[in-house]
Amino acid sequence: MVKGGTSILSENIWKDALKYFAGGVNSPVRAAVKPSPFYSLSGKGAYIYTEDNKRYIDYVLGYGPLILGHENEYVKNKVIEQIEKGWIFGTPSKSEVELAKKITSHMNSVEKIRFVNSGTEATMNAIRLARGFTKREKILKFNGNYHGAHDYALIDAGSAATEFGVPDSEGIPKEVLNTVVICEYNDLNCVEKKLKTEEIAGVIVEPVMGNMGVVPPNENFLKGLRELTRTYNSLLIFDEVITGFRLSLAGAQGYYGVSADITTLGKIIGGGFPIGAIGGKREIIDMFTPSGKVFNAGTFNANPVSMTAGLATIEVLERENVIEKTVSVAKSIAEELDNIPVPHVINRVQNMFQIFFGVSKVTNATEAKKANKDQYIKFHINMLNNGVFIPPSQYESIFTSLAHYDDYVINETIDAIKKSRSGI
Ligand code: PMP
Repeated sequence: MVKGGTSILSENIWKDALKYFAGGVNSPVRAAVKPSPFYSLSGKGAYIYTEDNKRYIDYVLGYGPLILGHENEYVKNKVIEQIEKGWIFGTPSKSEVELAKKITSHMNSVEKIRFVNSGTEATMNAIRLARGFTKREKILKFNGNYHGAHDYALIDAGSAATEFGVPDSEGIPKEVLNTVVICEYNDLNCVEKKLKTEEIAGVIVEPVMGNMGVVPPNENFLKGLRELTRTYNSLLIFDEVITGFRLSLAGAQGYYGVSADITTLGKIIGGGFPIGAIGGKREIIDMFTPSGKVFNAGTFNANPVSMTAGLATIEVLERENVIEKTVSVAKSIAEELDNIPVPHVINRVQNMFQIFFGVSKVTNATEAKKANKDQYIKFHINMLNNGVFIPPSQYESIFTSLAHYDDYVINETIDAIKKSRSGI
């Protein structure tokens, strides 16, 4: 097994992939690994193993779901047990009730849930729900926040939408564009002005922005959103697709002590299998069909494999102090990054962080875009060559997992950072 380096076999697969897929991939950020993506063969603990017999310490972790690391034994066995019983029935299964009990036991503001299949579906339905509930049409979102790949979210969107130069996607009707109002992250004055002057159904926000690198909320930003939305009878939607069960077992809401009206979840609650969820107060979630008139349905909604993997993952989170351990790893790695002798700033909240070169503060998307992306990419490539996979884009977050809570993994990473800092 070779640590890092270039990948001849992967390059050959890539040549074929370019024939079949737009830009060679099925989700754009994967094409950001240059000169060509490596093709993963397997994952174990903190490591990804590739088709080229290379090994990387993985700080991307599937872009968030794998808080326990790859192929966690407990989750794997539960999933295998489920698969031996069947994997889709077109009827409810007990696993969905168990996962809902678990999630609602941790998140005070979530009394009822609708399970869907991705974060995208979760925010799309949350927005529809907010409109149905308030009988208003407009949604306020923040510049650089990413809420998935549907029409109402692809306006000033972060993540791969910014990385590939399409924060405003083509193909969205102008009637839709006219219903989305934008403010800069952390700008409460803008929010107040818009809430006062426009009929806004809901304010959707990443409580920690994890899709422009990492950008924390200023003190009072989330509390301010809570108060303002209450004052102007608008719903507060926390998009906790990344932060749910990551910042704390009660998500960003538990960590910051602010409750949302609607919460969207994904990633960790599916333990690495496809999932999304919309949660909230009973009277809001009950608006979904069949009890209410806001339509949602899905062949794969609440599929037993995702339910089982999510439940098993949360059980491990509860049992093994996972969040504390991932935070302690994140601190060690972020401290070493801070020693890089090139001007930079590091934003970290718990176990999610990112480094921005050439700037001294990043509090919103406009400031994030001023960071020196070329330096970040050089650093990413150097890290890959030294056996460590950090996100291939400035506009993603570095994550840690339970499997990284290991001196060998941490020391190997620190060593890679030391070797990677020259030439950036
Ligand atoms: N919301 C947030 C905050 C996200 O980070 C993402 C994905 N990175 C999504 C929504 C969309 O989730 P999915 O990719 O599962 O559709």
